[in-house]
Amino acid sequence: EKYGVNQLRRMFLEFFESKGHLIMKSFSLVPHNDNSLLLINSGMAPLKPYFTGQEIPPRKRVTTCQKCIRTGDIENVGKTARHGTFFEMLGNFSFGDYFKHEAIAWSWEFLTKVVGLDADRLYPSVYLEDDEAFEIWNKEIGIPADRIFKFGKEDNFWEHGAGPCGPCSEIYYDRGKKYGCGRPGCTVGCECDRYMEVWNNVFTQFNNDGHNNYTPLDYKNIDTGMGLERLAVVVQDVESIFAVDTIKALLDNVAELAGISYMENEDKDVSLRLITDHIRSCTFMISDGIMPSNEGRGYVLRRLLRRASRHGRLLGIEGKFLARLSETVIELSKDGYPELDEKKEMIFKVLTEEEDKFDKTIDQGLNILAELESRLREEGKTVLEGEDAFRLYDTYGFPLDLTREILEEKGFSVDEEGFKKAMEVQREMARSSRKKSNYMGREDIYQGLDAELTTEFTGYETLCDTGLIT
Ligand code: ATP
Ligand code: MG
Ligand code: MG
Ligand code: MG
Repeated sequence: EKYGVNQLRRMFLEFFESKGHLIMKSFSLVPHNDNSLLLINSGMAPLKPYFTGQEIPPRKRVTTCQKCIRTGDIENVGKTARHGTFFEMLGNFSFGDYFKHEAIAWSWEFLTKVVGLDADRLYPSVYLEDDEAFEIWNKEIGIPADRIFKFGKEDNFWEHGAGPCGPCSEIYYDRGKKYGCGRPGCTVGCECDRYMEVWNNVFTQFNNDGHNNYTPLDYKNIDTGMGLERLAVVVQDVESIFAVDTIKALLDNVAELAGISYMENEDKDVSLRLITDHIRSCTFMISDGIMPSNEGRGYVLRRLLRRASRHGRLLGIEGKFLARLSETVIELSKDGYPELDEKKEMIFKVLTEEEDKFDKTIDQGLNILAELESRLREEGKTVLEGEDAFRLYDTYGFPLDLTREILEEKGFSVDEEGFKKAMEVQREMARSSRKKSNYMGREDIYQGLDAELTTEFTGYETLCDTGLIT
């Protein structure tokens, strides 16, 4: 028997409810009182005040299914089996209550008993110095020592500068040879999609004083995260997150609009998966009140939306199509997120207007880009001037990554430094004209956004690299 995505979400939450957890509803994708993050990227992120003790949690045990966005994974989308920019993270949390024994035992119980995964295909990893976790897996759960992988700080220690931190233990599922890269030594931890990471259990037990001096915390916490889509992949035994029941229905919808079938042409499949993922992100972002713009979250939305729109063109989809697809997203996800249905009309409107804007200039922009390409070819150059890329951005609404992506397909690149400079020049001009008009200290809005830029949130580095976030 195969469980559907909506069913798995409920099974997880109810399982942890039966273990004394309070089910809390997903928080918004827009962080609340947190300048360190542009978008919520894990189940733990909106619960931070409970972990730091700033706020008292409604209960010491909480479970959620949190909507997440990771723009840092954007380059993987459509190419790996396991990454989306949007995904749902299932999690169980302990605020100074239970610790490793329970967390490990319950994750094992859920995977092997509740959803019935084959125990022989599951592999835990632990932080190499975490003998306690190793012993629990080995002695209490009964996993042979040679099936428990020990990894270093990079993989199995969760830490963000100063503050609470600790080792983690991840659970991988062997999907079988047919999904492997076939390289010798391909095993748990390999970047290919055979051993798929499904669950991360973080044991927050230390405080880092900022100079890597670790002292044990009085109240130890548990923070876990499992991608709902990945859980569905292994439970339903399908090829990727794009083949699980709900997401596959959405992908089929995209294919239908394009008049093609999935799994016939690799390039087209990448576009199908990319559109499928991006429309999920866009639909959820708009439902949380994010509007397309040229900065911050709004820019992330604009970028995803325009990228989806362009891939729609590559597939030969004619006319506007994003609102139609979002209708499917809403239909498939409203079970877990009733707010989608309530905001339906607004979502359609925002998508249609933004797609319209891009549609009006995309042809012109693509023509200009084609001209620029042939000029480069004639001159024997391979790098597009930053100013040209900036003009495409400024006048035709081409986000830098879109220009880069289109050029890369043909063996060209973009002078990104030059782009940043052109952007800076324009920003300076805008700034000085604002100063002149002295409009109620309006520059201040830039300070808040700059703060977001200087954080260490790596999931965002792709966008920061473009220098587009102001
Ligand atoms: P990976 O190594 O596969 O990129 P991760 O180690 O970055 O995953 P974590 O930060 O540990 O992921 O997040 C916890 C869980 O969330 C993962 O074990 C996975 O199930 C899920 N997850 C993380 N990133 C994504 C994504 N981009 N799309 C879908 N699920 C994800
Ligand atoms: Mg990752
Ligand atoms: Mg990982
Ligand atoms: Mg992980």
